This record gives sequence, C-alpha cells and structure tokens, in this order.
Amino acid sequence: MFQNARIKLTAWYVLIIAIISVLFSIAIYVTVNRELERLEHSQIVRQLQWQRLGPGPAIAMPDDIDVSEVRFRIIMTLGLVDASIVLLSSLAGYFLAGRTLAPIAEMVDDQNRFIADASHELRTPLTSLKSEIEVTLRDKKIGLRDTKALLVSNLEEVNKLQNLSDNLIKLTQYHKVNGNMTFKEESIKNIISESMSKVSGVAKAKKIKIISNVKDTKIEVEKNTLTELFVILLDNAVKYSGKGKKVTVESSKTDGHIIVKVADQGIGITKEDVPHIFERFYRGDKSRTKSDTDGYGLGLSIAKEIVSKHNGSIAVESDSGKGTIFSVKLPVKHSLSLI
Ligand code: ADP
Repeated sequence: MFQNARIKLTAWYVLIIAIISVLFSIAIYVTVNRELERLEHSQIVRQLQWQRLGPGPAIAMPDDIDVSEVRFRIIMTLGLVDASIVLLSSLAGYFLAGRTLAPIAEMVDDQNRFIADASHELRTPLTSLKSEIEVTLRDKKIGLRDTKALLVSNLEEVNKLQNLSDNLIKLTQYHKVNGNMTFKEESIKNIISESMSKVSGVAKAKKIKIISNVKDTKIEVEKNTLTELFVILLDNAVKYSGKGKKVTVESSKTDGHIIVKVADQGIGITKEDVPHIFERFYRGDKSRTKSDTDGYGLGLSIAKEIVSKHNGSIAVESDSGKGTIFSVKLPVKHSLSLI
C-alpha cells in the first residue's frame, strides 16, 4: 500500500512539474519564434533587394542564417531540457514522496497494531463468556444455584469488558491532538486527596496505608484528567504491593514546575520491563503471572497521554522486589509552558 501511494504521489509531483516545464518551453519557443520570423522576413526582403540590384562586385550576396535549422535546434534543446527536468523530478519526487508518506505509514501501522491488540484483549473475556454459557446450556438439569453462579461469573467478564472499552475510549480521547481540555488553577493537594479517596476502597481491602505529604500549591491543570492520572498511579501502587505495605505521595517545587512522587513498597519492576511499561497493552512479567492483578496494560499509557497534555513528564525508578517511585513533573502555569 505504501509503495503504491508513493508511486502515485511521485506521478502527481512529476505531472505538475512536467506541465510547468512544458508551459515554460512553449512560452520560450513562442517568443524566440517571433524573433525568428522577423529575422526570416528581413532576410527575404534583403534577398529580394539583392536580386533586384543584380550581382555585382560591390554588393555581396547576404550571408543568411538557416532559420528552420535554428528553429529545429531550439525545439530539440527545449525538449532535452524538459526531459531532464522530468527525469530529475521523478527521482526527487520519489525521494520526497517517501519522506512525506513515512510518518503517515507509521501512524497507520500504529493504528493497525492498536486494533489488533485491542481485538486480542477483547477476545479473551468474550471467549470465556461464550464457553461458560455454552457449557451451562448443554446441562439439562441445571439448578437455580448454578445459574446464579454462572451469571455472577458472566458479570465479572462483562465488567472486565466494560473496563477495557472505557480505557480504550480514554486512550483515544487523550491521544487526540486538540482534545478540548480547560486548564484552571487548582490545588494539587486537593487533587491528590480526591485521587486517594477513589482508591481508598482497594487500599483498605489490602490494609495498605496511603500517606500524603503534598503541599497546598496552586497549579494550572485540567482537574478531572489529572485526578485520573494519580488514580492510575495510586491504584497501581496498591495493586502491585503486598498486604499491609505503605504508599507515600510527596510534592516539591522547582523552577516553575511541581514534582509529585508516588512511592510504594511493592513488587517493583524488572530492568527488562522498565523501558516498556508506558507502551499500550504492555504488562510486566510479574503482573501477568500474578492472578490477583487484573489489568490490560493501558493504565500507564493513559497516564503518559495525560502528562503530555499537561506539557509535563513522567519517570520511573524501581528496585525489583523492593518498590517503585513514579515522578510526575508538571508546569505550574500551563499557558506559559506552551511558549
Ligand atoms: P496494568 O496495571 O493494567 O498491567 P499499566 O499500564 O498500569 O497496566 O502498567 C503496566 C505495567 O507496569 C504493569 O503490568 C506492571 O508490570 C508495571 N507497573 C506499573 N506500576 C507498577 C508499580 N507501582 N509497581 C510494580 N509494577 C508496576
């Protein structure tokens, strides 16, 4: 597909350049030809005058230019120039078309990969739903208790599907170049408190304490998405920590930026996984093998999109087996960071 599009684009480039070049040649030829006709005309007049006077020793026969040969040579030169321009523009056009289409091809590849990954993730809960329903339908003596158990299990799969589709929607929404987000001055402390209250249920279930040492600093942000970002980081911190561990959130201020660190004492991330954790659908080896850590590997890609919408950055430091620290750096004034 890419090659086809490249050839078509090259053909368009060449066609446009060829038309311009031929039009120029026609203009040059018309102008030169007018001069040649004038020259031809004056030569004929001179010839006639010479014939009327008759050959004599004093007047020599005029040394005339062969106008039709000059005309032929001009046509040949213009044709040669046009052919060279077409040849050169074909080579340059092919090269330029390749460069123009490369980012588009990359985007299409990326989208195809995204669709393939999303379909793959959707298939797992769907297959499980389907087989559970089929097995139960085959059982002719199924009782109310078994039916209820089936429905509970089905609901679990449906919840997973809903979660996955919600995350996919969020990811595509935040990925849009000009998503309509309104940035307002908010207290970072309030945002962290709100995020903490959203994960308090899961933290409580694992007896994990979340401690906040965040200062009450004002920052220009889109409140809902930033709350979502810290929910993702706190939820991961809880999800990947053992029972009774501690999660801490701290903030500091440097040269027009606020840095918020979310630290846990959990399973940590291996050196091999660290470079990939922000990729879509990537799940670390440890999290894939642990049955109690549900997820699709979309949280951190959403987090990265949110941070980039705020013109900030996100980094991770992790000690496998000991814990992880995620640092989010955000400009205090969003409008100034755009300059
Ligand atoms: P998910 O949690 O659904 O797998 P994420 O995108 O949130 O997806 O995270 C990607 C991977 O990064 C996880 O699978 C896990 O391996 C690793 N990870 C993220 N946060 C932590 C953390 N706090 N502690 C340990 N590993 C983490």
